[in-house]
Amino acid sequence: MKAIRDGLLVLLFVDMHGLLEQITRDGIAAALAQVGMSDEGITEQANEFAVSYARDHAADLVGKKWVDGELVDNPKAQWRIDEATRDLIRADVTKAVDEGWSNDRLAEALGENYAFSASRAETIARTETAFADVAGNIHAWKLSGQVESKQWIVGDGCCDDCQELDGTTVALDQDFPDGGGAGPPLHPNCRCDVVPVLTEDAK
Ligand SMILES: [Zn+2]
Repeated sequence: MKAIRDGLLVLLFVDMHGLLEQITRDGIAAALAQVGMSDEGITEQANEFAVSYARDHAADLVGKKWVDGELVDNPKAQWRIDEATRDLIRADVTKAVDEGWSNDRLAEALGENYAFSASRAETIARTETAFADVAGNIHAWKLSGQVESKQWIVGDGCCDDCQELDGTTVALDQDFPDGGGAGPPLHPNCRCDVVPVLTEDAK
């Protein structure tokens, strides 16, 4: 039964890994275009960041970590995307053992519940991809050497908490105040953006 659970976690990991890597790469390309850079060396270096960012965050989302080319259990991971899935799987497996279900019946139940929790996880996934985009932006701006700081731009109709951050500028390595972290999103479905403030030389 642990094998089935682990199999689903690996599927989730693979899904999230591919998604986060693509989004981080897109974020890097957009950020370099923003500062007018088309340096292959920098792009390559930035994309290495995308690979490790996606791997680490996808692993974290399924309660694992990436060590020496392998996914291993990580008791400290946040279980954010998988808490619901994990509980559902545990409940199904317990029931299957108690009631002597066939393997087919168990597989069907797992499939239904996995789909159910996947839709609940969608909001979390959307937030994670927004983080990956911004992480790619900021990393590429750092490598470009053209960007002095970053500025929070509030999204159209975004919440009051976000309004307070509108126009706030901090150094690339610094967190925004009031829990803004490295950049948007501030909350699920946040529509805010972060833009680069160029150095004097780059203007
Ligand atoms: Zn916002």
